[in-house]
Amino acid sequence: MQRERVADDIYVFTSELYAQVTAGAVLTPEGAILIDTLVFPEESRAIRNFLENRLSCPVRYVINTHYHADHTYGTCFFPDAQVVAHARCYELLDTRGRAGLMAAQQSTGELRDVEVVLPHLVFETGTLSIHLGNKTVELWHSPGHSPDSIVCLVKEDRVLFAADTLMPLPYFVDGNYDDFIESLNALRNSGYENVVQGHGEVVLRGEVEEVIQANLSYLNIIRRHAQQIVDGKLPIDTLNDLTIEACGKSRIPLNGLVQELHLANLRALYDELLSRPAEEHRSILV
Ligand SMILES: [Zn+2]
Repeated sequence: MQRERVADDIYVFTSELYAQVTAGAVLTPEGAILIDTLVFPEESRAIRNFLENRLSCPVRYVINTHYHADHTYGTCFFPDAQVVAHARCYELLDTRGRAGLMAAQQSTGELRDVEVVLPHLVFETGTLSIHLGNKTVELWHSPGHSPDSIVCLVKEDRVLFAADTLMPLPYFVDGNYDDFIESLNALRNSGYENVVQGHGEVVLRGEVEEVIQANLSYLNIIRRHAQQIVDGKLPIDTLNDLTIEACGKSRIPLNGLVQELHLANLRALYDELLSRPAEEHRSILV
């Protein structure tokens, strides 16, 4: 696991075991707020050890940015923390999260100690603020990657934990394409100092707008392509003709995983456009 400091009191932990997924810690004199918890116990325990034993900063709150395993499995290693999430995250952890963990434990021995922890505090609309010590972390709903995704802003430092609303390739197969566009647009022109992506490298101030724009542009290009295939009744394999590079993205990040995400995005969008009634379909084109 890699550790970096993005502000005096803010650390980012990046997994070396799964898809460069990130977690972050905001330190205060009253304890720490941990944003996501990684997937493998070895790394989650290393975060706890660093914060609680080395820095003597006990974790008071754990924020789950969404229910996916790579962001929530480590939560059970912080039994004294209050767990905070969106209301949909509670429902999804209780259903899909439990089923997914059971299946994962069958195939992956390292996960045997993992337990689903349901959030203690949830919100549905607007903004939830957590005040601890000298820090304020603001949370709001940011669906698209998943129905329950949120983002977290450390107000005093203007550091945004964007979770999977911002990653090297937008991925909406478990979420919704239109919501994703809206959530990305909501992040524009906000003057963030740093943006911590849910996977991959931290985005610095000067690059934030460009990165958001590139993700919006990717989403527009794949929509146009999928729409042409649906309208032209072309064979479904034609979907794969659109390379990731032709959408302005590289296939290198996340050890090449983005290529799989790209193909899954195309397929999901095609299925969605195909299932829309003809009238709605026409209105998209105008
Ligand atoms: Zn993720």
